Amino acid sequence: MASLIVTGRRWLLLGVGLLPFGTLAQDMSRVRHTIATLAAPHMHGRGYVRDGDQRAAAYLRQRFRQLGLQPLAPDYTQSFPLTVNTFPGKLQLDLSVGMLRFPVLGRSRKLQPGTEFIAAPESGPGKIGGPFSAAPIIHLDTLVFTDVAAQQRLLKRSWYGGGVAIRNADVPRLATLPLPLQQHLDSAAMRFTLVPKLTASLASIQAGQVRLDILESVWQKYTSKQDDLAAQVAVRVDAELKHDYQTQNLIGMLPGTAQPDSFLVITAHYDHLGTMGRRAYFPGANDNASGTAMLLELAAYYARPENRPAYSVVFIAFGGEEAGLVGSRYFVQHPLVPLPRIRFLLNLDLLGTGEEGITVVNGRVLPDAFQRLQQFNEAGHFVPSVAARGKAANSDHYYFTESGVPAFFLYTRGGPTAYHDVHDQAAALPLTAFSGVFKLITQFLASF
Ligand SMILES: [Zn+2]
Repeated sequence: MASLIVTGRRWLLLGVGLLPFGTLAQDMSRVRHTIATLAAPHMHGRGYVRDGDQRAAAYLRQRFRQLGLQPLAPDYTQSFPLTVNTFPGKLQLDLSVGMLRFPVLGRSRKLQPGTEFIAAPESGPGKIGGPFSAAPIIHLDTLVFTDVAAQQRLLKRSWYGGGVAIRNADVPRLATLPLPLQQHLDSAAMRFTLVPKLTASLASIQAGQVRLDILESVWQKYTSKQDDLAAQVAVRVDAELKHDYQTQNLIGMLPGTAQPDSFLVITAHYDHLGTMGRRAYFPGANDNASGTAMLLELAAYYARPENRPAYSVVFIAFGGEEAGLVGSRYFVQHPLVPLPRIRFLLNLDLLGTGEEGITVVNGRVLPDAFQRLQQFNEAGHFVPSVAARGKAANSDHYYFTESGVPAFFLYTRGGPTAYHDVHDQAAALPLTAFSGVFKLITQFLASF
């Protein structure tokens, strides 16, 4: 409780220094510009194709430099390797429609990568079928999971270079099939998963077959449902598994005025999912250009002489988050500040909406800090609600939490729901709670 009283007073003092909040707080046109820049086509989805991650890193280094952050590594850069499957070249799926059995006589429909289908994260490369030699796709009927005769029939099917289409809900049931049948299915050239929504992610492995996720509504529109031969297709997927790809975290610091050897740490991942074929890319405006923009706004705030905090503040823009929290795990294994000296860490990921407020991962793990956050919000009416969650391995705070560093992960709730898809665009972000979250964070951090 003693710290709360001290806290309150410190906040009062800070409050006086902050009277012209509108001008000294975050600048929303700059926030929009940061997000639009990071989500722009020339950043190629901030992934591992066409230097997307490197371009984003170069931009952030420049911003760190302009803010006068001290580099905690040469040129702010902590490099680390990761292995990731990428889709740098062609990604094509042509359905033969009309006369399925005679594709030459029918019409072919080209599905759009990004909006109608995507490559599954672990898809292997392949060039299968062509305009005059479409490959067959068999519908994997649910009967196959319960009926031995259906299993026997499928086992005898020859693939002729084709494969199966399976509903997303049935994918977990594949593991329940007899092993010879599982092996037979894996020996097909292709597997299509029919999904209600396209949600991309990254894999560090590559399968021995072409795997595509196709929007179920699109598939149903153009294929035959009665026939077990669902469609004939021509497919081209250029997939490349990149081993030990060098990417990086970017780390800058503002030294504390009273206790520079104690640290408050603000983190946000700047990487995203990259590209899907030549044209489609994942902008990642909400995930996580929004959190990166918040990190930069906080850095701009604390960089002002009148806002310099007693503790040092470290700003980490993590790479490799979408590849499995690779950058933050690397930092925890190779820390550039002693982990026990971190008073608190705030991880910012998905801050672009907020109609309903924010959720705090670890809020239930650290009830005192959470209660403080809620009290600040009740007093200041910054966001509609502040909800607590338990532990979750869903963003870059996780390995810090596992190492005993007190940490919250904040994300906004409500509003647009584009996630890991081509629709997560800068123009679509309402940034409803952005300004409120900014104020809440500065009050909260002043309480340490
Ligand atoms: Zn993500």
